[in-house]
Amino acid sequence: MLLLSHCLQRPRTWLISHDDSALPAATAAAFAAGCQKLADGQPLAYLLGEQEFHGLTLHVTPDVLVPRPDTETLVDWALALLPGLAPPGEPAPPGPRVIDLGTGSGAIALAVAHDCPAAQVTATDLSPAALAVAQGNARRLGLNVRFAEGAWWQAVAPDAQFELVLSNPPYIAGRDPHLPALRHEPTLALTPGGDGLDALRQIISGARQHLAPGGWLLLEHGWDQAAAVRTLLREHQLEPVLTRQDIAGRDRCTGGQLGSVRE
Ligand code: GLN
Repeated sequence: MLLLSHCLQRPRTWLISHDDSALPAATAAAFAAGCQKLADGQPLAYLLGEQEFHGLTLHVTPDVLVPRPDTETLVDWALALLPGLAPPGEPAPPGPRVIDLGTGSGAIALAVAHDCPAAQVTATDLSPAALAVAQGNARRLGLNVRFAEGAWWQAVAPDAQFELVLSNPPYIAGRDPHLPALRHEPTLALTPGGDGLDALRQIISGARQHLAPGGWLLLEHGWDQAAAVRTLLREHQLEPVLTRQDIAGRDRCTGGQLGSVRE
């Protein structure tokens, strides 16, 4: 129905109230071509050119991962923490500094900027094409996010500090049987190869250098990676460590805090 409404350039309500209208031949052909692409495994979001995420409509192209509802768990957690995170400053502290590493379509950064306008949000990506998509989304939504190109922490200055670090990095293992079904999405956004933990390792190992005292690092990960991520966070003295579940009840996000007093 979404595809048909897209091919007709009419809202779904129009489809329901015009269920006896003949389909123009060109529309029928476009619809059939779209169905063929869906049958070939292309995500509907790429055919529509957009995807809803946390109440925002984001433009998406095959240069970016399609934002998943699972990732709303990470955003909700971030939004719950943000009111308690403010950088030092007198008399009125500026808003908390937030970074989304590997932003793709901009989903996490834009949802946080939208729901917490005081936050100073930075979004990074290794892929210039993905950054262009994210920047376009920020412009369309009128949201103020700073963008930086580069791999994980390499995208920001060595002394950059954040109260909140967020990331949904590629975490699918190189031999995961689900990967072929996701072949239309960028491999770079889905898997770092190997055991799937390499990107998470890189983000966690650089986090202490970039977290402000009391700041949190929140990570999305695979359903079976929570224990490994908790161990990595503890190895880097980011404690306490907490895990949250996605809407399907699977362990999906794990976070650790940098103690307020540095030893
Ligand atoms: N959640 C996505 C999936 O399993 C993967 C996203 C990612 O690797 N960050 O389809």
